[in-house]
Amino acid sequence: MTTTITVIRGDGIGPEIMDATLHVLDSMDLGLQYEFADAGLVALEKHGELLPAATMDSIRKNRIALKSPLTTPVGEGFSSINVELRKRFDLYANVRPAKSFPNTKSRFPTGVDLITVRENTEGAYSAEGQALSEDGETATSVTKTTRRGSERIVRYAFELARKTGRKKVTVVHKANILKSTSGLFLKTARAVAMEYPDIQCNEMIVDNTCMQLVMKPEQFDVIVTTNLFGDIISDLCAGLVGGLGLAPGANIGTDAAIFEAVHGSAPDIAGKGIANPCALLLGAAQMLDHLGMTEKAERLRAAIVATLEAKDSLTPDLGGEGNTMSFAKAIAGRV
Ligand code: ATP
Ligand code: MG
Repeated sequence: MTTTITVIRGDGIGPEIMDATLHVLDSMDLGLQYEFADAGLVALEKHGELLPAATMDSIRKNRIALKSPLTTPVGEGFSSINVELRKRFDLYANVRPAKSFPNTKSRFPTGVDLITVRENTEGAYSAEGQALSEDGETATSVTKTTRRGSERIVRYAFELARKTGRKKVTVVHKANILKSTSGLFLKTARAVAMEYPDIQCNEMIVDNTCMQLVMKPEQFDVIVTTNLFGDIISDLCAGLVGGLGLAPGANIGTDAAIFEAVHGSAPDIAGKGIANPCALLLGAAQMLDHLGMTEKAERLRAAIVATLEAKDSLTPDLGGEGNTMSFAKAIAGRV
């Protein structure tokens, strides 16, 4: 059986890390077929649009996309193509694993293995009611939380925990101060948690969560939270375990899912062939999980860990002397 996925090679280091990632995937006999589609700067140059209709159609049809970083030029209609994609496909769950890897210059080379599930469509980022008074002295915005939005993200987190054999979900909130919005989120989360007696559920206020993450990150398993808190916490977690080159993310909706590296297009190193492909590779592993190929996903992750352990052909950001392709080949040799 073959599965067709949409592949967006992207801007800056995008094409380099995508070629490396596809090289590894091709070595795994996954039965994947790639449908290449353009987005970002490269699409603007080729088709006069940042997000061509053909690209949208491809994602809609295949329901799965693997995407490299995209550059959104200033003044081209929308503020971010990534945000636009999330909106158009209602990709409500932003799922960001953070795991300790060997031989990275990180604070926690062992002990961290957590997933942040961030609500991706509402909360403080709903973009509603953004206003600046005429005299420029007062700015306001609306934070919108819905029961439906809260319920589906919390349910996603519990289902993810159950599916991946994780034991605990921590609901992160600020309901003591933001009584209406964060309050509704917490109340809804408590009700959903009742349906999952097999998964432990605890609640934590966001400021304390930040301190706990820095001091004792090993206590966390799955974290579920609203948009703004999730944005900050997921970057904090990436920082705990070695930063951008190793941080993948998935944006998941009912009708489509997009898998990516968390980092941007890194124009400073584009074209040099030295970008670390691991973040996108780990995004591809999330994609395999999503497609039900759990055993293959595990094999891919294990090959990355083994290559890091052996310090085989690592890219310069990891202190190695390899390059994007030599690193990928070393990983492919271990899957
Ligand atoms: P964008 O405008 O697309 O967000 P950026 O310059 O902000 O691009 P980021 O990805 O946010 O790029 O990265 C910040 C810095 O981290 C880059 O300048 C780059 O040096 C480094 N970096 C990011 N991703 C990688 C990677 N995969 N491998 C090595 N270094 C990376
Ligand atoms: Mg950036």
